Amino acid sequence: MKRVFNFSAGPSMLPLEVLERAGAEITDANGTGQSVMEMSHRSKDYKPIIEKTEALLRELMDIPANYRVLFLQGGASLQFAMIPLNLAGAEQGAPRKKAAYVDTGVWADKAIKEAAKYVDVDVVASSRDKGCVYIPDAPPPPKDAAFYHITLNNTIIGTKWNKLPETGDVPLATDASSCILSEPLDVSKFGVIYAGAQKNLGPAGTTVIIVRDDLVGNAPSWVPTMLRYDVHAKEGSMYNTPPCYGVYVVGLVLEWVKEQGGVEALAKHNREKAALLYDYLDNSKTFLSPIEKSSRSLMNIPFVYRSAPEDKKSDLEKRFVQESAKEGLANLAGHRLVGGMRASIYNAMPIEGVKALIDFMTRFEKNMGSN
Ligand SMILES: *Cc1c(COP(=O)(O)O)cnc(C)c1O
Repeated sequence: MKRVFNFSAGPSMLPLEVLERAGAEITDANGTGQSVMEMSHRSKDYKPIIEKTEALLRELMDIPANYRVLFLQGGASLQFAMIPLNLAGAEQGAPRKKAAYVDTGVWADKAIKEAAKYVDVDVVASSRDKGCVYIPDAPPPPKDAAFYHITLNNTIIGTKWNKLPETGDVPLATDASSCILSEPLDVSKFGVIYAGAQKNLGPAGTTVIIVRDDLVGNAPSWVPTMLRYDVHAKEGSMYNTPPCYGVYVVGLVLEWVKEQGGVEALAKHNREKAALLYDYLDNSKTFLSPIEKSSRSLMNIPFVYRSAPEDKKSDLEKRFVQESAKEGLANLAGHRLVGGMRASIYNAMPIEGVKALIDFMTRFEKNMGSN
């Protein structure tokens, strides 16, 4: 078996134990004589799978009882619409409601643009002045805001919120797609937390939404059935067919998280991994991290050449990505919108992967010097 260290930002690496377990059960899950892929979502065989997955997520994230957990489709991107529709949608003819957003990069901006179709968006803070390499100070929300939205970890640029904004009674909504379960999170500080599964939770196609009870059931009557939190909450994510197989794999990942010692243990491991790479970058003569120290992501670590002539930059980046790939270090190219390189080191990336990357970069630097 040949497995690479996969530094992709998403879909991304899953724990080998999880893949092997899913493989072992692919034709016969739990003695049922069926694959989970073949099971009716309403069958007695499937029910315990989704129930166990929810119970494990509640346990690992310490989710209070007054929050619903939904497993839906549509990715984080569909939540860009569902949050404003469900938390701040107005009945036809009624005045629009207001929502506060912080603009910290590509995904935050997409959330803002989608929300602006349904609500009056007040961008209360932005880090655009410096190319989003930091998390701005977040002012309190306007009193009449229906919710306050932040992107907890900015996957493309590589920043994360270390201190949550004080929003008082205004519910805090957050996109945690690329950092869920990477560090402990006080769920009670949020109104809604949502995450596409394909970074830290499992396969693409499943989206996890954790939403406080009082924020369910406020969508105006015109909002389509499939986009209503109340419909999905009432039916236990089974209004229609949920992403059954995806939820099953998320359950396996959560079992793995528990075996690792839970979120606290993973956070310690993640901090160690990130510190290794940031320390290396901060001391490198060839590469650097463009991100302000106080805002650096634990999960997505972009880096660039310290000094590269503009006309050689793209060739040098390509050379880095190609040569690293030859050594089994896959997908180190930066996002197509920002260029450079990026190492995404989610929960499933072992520290050996980070060490192998640093070892490669050390040799790459030496070779560059002798060219
Ligand atoms: C990957 C990602 C998204 C997009 O997720 P989809 O599931 O593809 O819609 C949105 N926000 C963040 C922060 C992401 O990392």
